Amino acid sequence: MNATNAIRPERTDDVISPDVPAAGDPALKEHDPLTGLCSRAELHRLLGTTLAGARPGDALPALLALDLDRFQSINDSTGIATGDGVLSRVAGRIRGAVPKDATVARISGDEFAVLLPDGSQGSAVAAKLLELIARPYAVNGHAMSLSVSIGLARALGPDQDADDLLQAANIALHCAEADGKDRWCLFEPWMQQRASSRQALEMDLRAALATNKVELRKAMAVEQFEVHYQPQVDSRSQRLLGFEALARWRHPVRGMVGPNEFIPLAEEIGLIGLLGDWVLQTACRTAASWPAPSTGAPYRVAVNVSPLQLRERRALVASIANALASSGLAPGRLEIEITESALIGDALETLQGIKALGVSLSLDDFGTGYSSLSQLAHYPFDRLKIDRSFVSELPSGDAAHAVRTVQSRWMLQAIASLGAGLGMSTVAEGVETEAQAAIVREAGVSVIQGFLIARPTPEAALASLIERLEIAADLPAIPTPAPLESHP
Ligand code: C2E
Ligand code: MG
Ligand code: MG
Repeated sequence: MNATNAIRPERTDDVISPDVPAAGDPALKEHDPLTGLCSRAELHRLLGTTLAGARPGDALPALLALDLDRFQSINDSTGIATGDGVLSRVAGRIRGAVPKDATVARISGDEFAVLLPDGSQGSAVAAKLLELIARPYAVNGHAMSLSVSIGLARALGPDQDADDLLQAANIALHCAEADGKDRWCLFEPWMQQRASSRQALEMDLRAALATNKVELRKAMAVEQFEVHYQPQVDSRSQRLLGFEALARWRHPVRGMVGPNEFIPLAEEIGLIGLLGDWVLQTACRTAASWPAPSTGAPYRVAVNVSPLQLRERRALVASIANALASSGLAPGRLEIEITESALIGDALETLQGIKALGVSLSLDDFGTGYSSLSQLAHYPFDRLKIDRSFVSELPSGDAAHAVRTVQSRWMLQAIASLGAGLGMSTVAEGVETEAQAAIVREAGVSVIQGFLIARPTPEAALASLIERLEIAADLPAIPTPAPLESHP
């Protein structure tokens, strides 16, 4: 997170204001100049003395590690001065939420820590912090809200090492973030195991990307990474329309590692731009080599881009333009998929930049993120990809689980009409059975993607897949069904 917040904010009034030392005060070393809270070094020192000073029978301390969720988007959208103002108010709210004998520190940009001499208060304090920090903020004329993730670790005994306790609180914080943020998590020993395997995976990913750096930059074939392609077909005619490109990591020992595991890691270690560019270049080059269909428009290719790539507007637009130019792919054949949760902050300009290249835009995982319906109309999307969860509620065979199925059918129909009304086509993801395909079709969804049609397929097997799907599309089209019966 950005730690450059250096501008002193105006005085806040919604907080118990921390005592900010004056410039030149020797206490500055021990304090964070923006918030007046304790510095990281000072917290470490106090933690050591608190642990060392604990006598048998005394309460043992606990440490809370706090990280504001998506704080970067506040800095990006409102500017650093306002970001500083928010940090200052958050600091005050933390001070107001903890017992008098607690120590509050600012660890870095949007990370804070609380040392509680009596660790038994840990869970109550964590719950209070979640609630207080989530209250609305008004800074420099900007109204906003925030959430926080918190890791809590209790000292196990007076001989506990300060570094171990800090590490345990951070591991618990990562668990809170991985579980969806806006929550607190108590450290448990199994988390250490998970953190170690994650770290091992991160080291492997760094090594694999470093080995391939030159090839990745030149968009050449690389060791361990591949792009697989999953077909999308017209829900009614079954005609093949194109493919979604999905990244794969074929690890020599771990086997195939899915993008849900390695994309977030690549984001964290700052290598998503490199990997994302490579996927884009590879997908465009592959799509340019596909045979033309016997009828209809040439097959399209859809490429996912990460929210972090979206934030680097110039780099992303240049990377897309470059992939098109070097592959010779017609821009109209490329679609960029952006996950709904990436629309927080100011994505509009980037989306417009991508559209200006003649590329289409698709809103991925629709129905799970944060986009409000009123916002949706302002974004230049061409398609809505309905999240898999809506389809997985539908019957996967004979066992109909009635109520949820009825609700999901109506949701699908509502999203299909919403898309049609906004001039967007709709794609149902995760269609696994004929029964689901029939319901999706009845609901008016235009495109189907899922294991029913085919799994994501390596490039080498695409020619035979295209042939099979072309034959299937020659079969008679599925007739338009009667409208859905009304809601019971
Ligand atoms: P997504 O974009 O929503 O992709 C669809 C995911 O659903 C894929 O998972 C696909 O294999 C899976 N899927 C498709 N049909 C079915 C089905 O019928 N049943 C079930 N259960 N699953 C189905 P995958 O390949 O593991 O990708 C997961 C996510 O990782 C993608 O979700 C996408 O958000 C991300 N991702 C994949 N490749 C890239 C990439 O190159 N860059 C970025 N930034 N993200 C990527
Ligand atoms: Mg996608
Ligand atoms: Mg999706």
